[in-house]
Order: sequence, then C-alpha cells, then structure tokens
Amino acid sequence: MWDFISRKAATEPDADRRGYAVWVSEIMLQQTQVATVIDYYIRWMQKWPTLQALAQASLEEVNELWAGLGYYSRGKRLQEAARKVVSELAGRMPRTAEDLQKLLPGVGRYTAGAIASISYGQATGVVDGNVIRVLCRLRCVGADSSSPAVIDWLWDMANVLVDRSRPGDFNQALMELGATVCVPKSPLCGECPVKQHCQAWRRVEKDLAFASQKLFGKAAPVPDVEDCLGDCPLCPPATEPWDSSLGVTNFPRKAAKKPPRAMRTATCVLERRGCHQAPEYFIVQRPSSGLLAGLWEFPSVPLAQDLQEEKEREELADHLQAWTGRPVAAKGLQFIGEVIHIFSHIHQTYVVYSLHLDGDVTLDPALSPSRWVTEDEFRASAVSTAMKKVLKAHGKQRRKESSPVKGSKRKRGAKALGAGSPCPGTQLSLRAFLRAPKGP
Ligand code: SF4
Repeated sequence: MWDFISRKAATEPDADRRGYAVWVSEIMLQQTQVATVIDYYIRWMQKWPTLQALAQASLEEVNELWAGLGYYSRGKRLQEAARKVVSELAGRMPRTAEDLQKLLPGVGRYTAGAIASISYGQATGVVDGNVIRVLCRLRCVGADSSSPAVIDWLWDMANVLVDRSRPGDFNQALMELGATVCVPKSPLCGECPVKQHCQAWRRVEKDLAFASQKLFGKAAPVPDVEDCLGDCPLCPPATEPWDSSLGVTNFPRKAAKKPPRAMRTATCVLERRGCHQAPEYFIVQRPSSGLLAGLWEFPSVPLAQDLQEEKEREELADHLQAWTGRPVAAKGLQFIGEVIHIFSHIHQTYVVYSLHLDGDVTLDPALSPSRWVTEDEFRASAVSTAMKKVLKAHGKQRRKESSPVKGSKRKRGAKALGAGSPCPGTQLSLRAFLRAPKGP
C-alpha cells in the first residue's frame, strides 16, 4: 500500500510536481498508517495537484481536508511551506536533502532525505522508525535508540548503505522491510532476505545451538566474540544484557517514554432546532496557533485537575455565558458523559455536557468565529476526531433518552434526564434554566 502512494508520487514526470507529490505523501505518512492515508492523499492531490494550487488554498480548506488525519499542524505547515516555495523560490522545489531541510518549514532530516532520494535520485539515506529497527537488529545496537550517539550512527550507516544507482528504491525497500518483515513484535526472520547479514539473528541461532548442546551434555560455554566488553555507546548497558527470551526483539531499545500529560476539558454541545426541526449545533473556532490550531469545536474550557463537578459546571456555565451574552445556570447543563482522546503527548478527558436553546441568542461577533451547523455540516467541517467522538456520545445519549424502555444511566450524580424540565423527557430550554432556582 505504501508502494501505491510512493510509486504514484514518484512517477510524476514534472520534477517540481514529483517532489511536491512525494513531500505530501511523506508528511501524511508521519505517525499515520498507510491504509488511513491513501484516501486523504488521493483527495488532497485531486484538490491541490500543484504547489501553486496549495499556496492559494485557505487554512480552513486545508483543515477541512485534513480533519480526522490527526497531528493537524502538519497540514498547516505543508501549506505554509508551499506558499514559501511559490513566493520565494519561484515555485521551484529545492533538489537536495540539505536545501530541502534548510529552506522548507516543517521538513526535517528524514522528509528531506526521502524527497531528495525518491524524487531527485540523490544518494542519501533515510532514518525513520522502521529503519531504526532494522539497522539496530542487523548490528545488535542495544543502547537507547534515541540517544545522540545511536542517531548519529544510524544516519552514517543509512548513508553508507544506500544504493548509489537507485537510492529512492533502496530507501523505500529498507522501510518496507521494517514495516512488513522486521516488525516490532514478531519479526518474520525465517523469511527475511537479509538474515544472513543480521547479527541479532545470528545471536539467536547461537543461543539455540548452545541450548541443544547443553541438552546433550556437550556444552562448553564459548564467550561471544561479538559481545562488546568496553564502555560502548552503541551496546546494551551492562544493567540490561541480552535476554534470550526476547530473541531479536532485544533490539532496538528505547528510553522509558514520558507518560502523557493528563488534561480535563469541559465541553458543551449547544443544540437548537433549525429548519424542519433538524438539530443544529453551535461550534467555535480555536485559535490559529497551538494544539488543533484553527479547528472547530464545541465551546470548551480547560479544567484544573481534581476540580469538583459543581465547580466544573460553574466554569463551563461562565464560559457559555460569554458566548450567549446571558447568565447561564450551571444546573441547567445536562451531563452526557466523559470522552477520552489520546493525543501524542496528552491524555485528554472531555467532560461532555449539553444544553438546548429554544430562543434567539445573539452571539457576540467580537468573540472567536462561531456558527451553527447541521450534523452533516459538522462532519464536513474542520473538526477534530475528538469532537466527532463528543458528538457521537451526545447522539448515543439522545437515543437512550428516546428509548422508552432503557432510559439513561447517570454518572457522577447528574440529574435524571429532564428532571426539573417543564416538559418531561426533554432538556431544559435556555429560557427555562435561566429561571432555574439557585441553591441546592
Ligand atoms: Fe529483522 Fe530478523 Fe531480518 Fe534480522 S533476520 S533483519 S531481526 S527480520
């Protein structure tokens, strides 16, 4: 499948278009599965087949097409860099890895090497997660694979190994080997085309031979000449020696990951009846920088950890008040549930509430851009996967409520559905809850 994207991109006859096509595919493939990328890649290239076309797109359009692919800053940076190529480089893509990395924002060493080798035939290596795994196993590199010494060694090795006559094919083959054969958990060493050159494989073979000799009482432990006795920056630390039970998956080794930061955010699905009584939802645009820049979301407010439910509601009500321009009673918010979404470095919990509006609400134009959307418009908008999950949780709750048998289970002591509402089975309207009595 990777082949599908890269070959399609690499066969483009015009050099600038070819570099652009490979660039788009490489950026989309960062941190994202090939199967997910294919559809996005095809739609992107149909919409913006050239750098010039992308340079003219708005961030809103880019975010809309990128919605659901994650790591949204990638699309934004791609567009910024396309504008730079058009305005400062006369629409001509840099042709070497060095220039690509130096001149294009968002293009790192790996992406630069991939574009230069695949599009322009530069004999330069690439190092991504797949290549790290293959090379560390081939040479029994057991030090932390993110350490500067190992990273430098990997780049040197990739640049030495790359085929001078077909660098693009070689790099793609090496990455493909890591993606399909030398996989993280159960590598297919028996089918591997480079097993004769693999030191990790040889080490496993040696272990097996020693174990069978021992079984027959013939074993004479032989020191492993490949074991490094010195203080080598590439070898496994003395405290974590080779573990026979892991076999080749002893490599590569990584430093323990930092746990993702936990965050809580209160979010409210503001709803009203639009044309033909179809529900419409209120969404607001996020700031143009930072996490999920420029994307649309339900009005949301970050919460301090360990905040009590009552306080959470009050903070969200205050936030909504800024949008509606009227007092909002915290008690009128209906608790829907919690939605968890994992970003690369954040464990985000959305505490989801809803509120039905049945009167005219004048929105303050001085605030961030906002709009009412139908469900279909919401799905077509530049909204994150997390917000789609929020709407799904809201829809599920609504279906439960409309079911006469099941009803809805409550969590966190939220009131029974419709309790306090003038019309059982429906939510409080904005007007009704504005009249809601204060106090317990
Ligand atoms: Fe990876 Fe096994 Fe091949 Fe070595 S022999 S490169 S460990 S798949």
